[in-house]
Amino acid sequence: MSQYHGSACRICRREGKKLFLKGDRCHSPKCSFERKGYPPGSQGRGRRGKVSEYGIQLREKQKIRNTYGLGERQFRRFFFEAQRHKGVTGDVLMQLLESRLDNVIYRIGFASSRRQARQLVRHRHFMVNDRIVDIPSYCVRPNDVIRVKDRSKKLAAIHGAMQKVHEGKTVPYLSLDKAKMEGSFLERPNRAEIPFDVSEQLVVELYSR
Ligand code: SF4
Repeated sequence: MSQYHGSACRICRREGKKLFLKGDRCHSPKCSFERKGYPPGSQGRGRRGKVSEYGIQLREKQKIRNTYGLGERQFRRFFFEAQRHKGVTGDVLMQLLESRLDNVIYRIGFASSRRQARQLVRHRHFMVNDRIVDIPSYCVRPNDVIRVKDRSKKLAAIHGAMQKVHEGKTVPYLSLDKAKMEGSFLERPNRAEIPFDVSEQLVVELYSR
């Protein structure tokens, strides 16, 4: 299945959780999930009933996949790569997802959502260690420096996003120098440091079936 290009709010309502896919709107009263927290579709309000174990695992996988904005095949690739690494597969999977360039740009504060970060990366507004990188799935490494290209420093989208972030560390594994419009990926995060309340172990169980 390719990447989903429909309504982001529909995904939150489907998953029964705010996934913060739309930047500022997610923190405002306009958030669809706040206004109508039931699943989308004409059967939405009435749909409840017992969910199977498989259903629970599947929903958890969809939550993670949709939050990071990956297609099904791409997500599987990340999972299989996590399996090849040493360590707990679920933890490694989250580490790999967190080191994607679009995620790092969003977390540092250069973009107000991962979707926007992806678009800005594709439009070649960022450099990693002084080289332009236009691949959102590019995985940064510890001590990589990510900065806004000089000619892109006046871009309204980046400025708008940066007004809402604070200097220093937004999460323990990233740092930001606002004046230079430059951030660093300090180290691979521990699972406990990643601010995402989800059970990746259920994804491991799903793919182990
Ligand atoms: Fe989800 Fe954001 Fe839409 Fe709210 S506004 S439903 S958090 S994408």
